[in-house]
Amino acid sequence: MKKDFVIITKALCPSCNQKKMDRHVIDPKCTSCKFLRHKANNLLSFKNFLDKSHPTWVYFNVYEKTKEGRGNQLDNFIKGKKEPSSKWL
Ligand SMILES: [Zn+2]
Repeated sequence: MKKDFVIITKALCPSCNQKKMDRHVIDPKCTSCKFLRHKANNLLSFKNFLDKSHPTWVYFNVYEKTKEGRGNQLDNFIKGKKEPSSKWL
């Protein structure tokens, strides 16, 4: 069903991204890495947007959009492992 989502994306800082490429352990609490917040209603185009604009993204969590902002978590996606296969949930 088509609806609006609130999406929180984790994007690695350059240092952690280099560690990932070198297959080293990344500190999940690194304060330089960013959590990005977006609104979207199409998960496929959102993922394409991330690949272009925030290529160091590692995962994103999808929440329902409510009047207050962010509602229940609906799903989560992981780069290269569990990527969206449809526009909507
Ligand atoms: Zn980092």
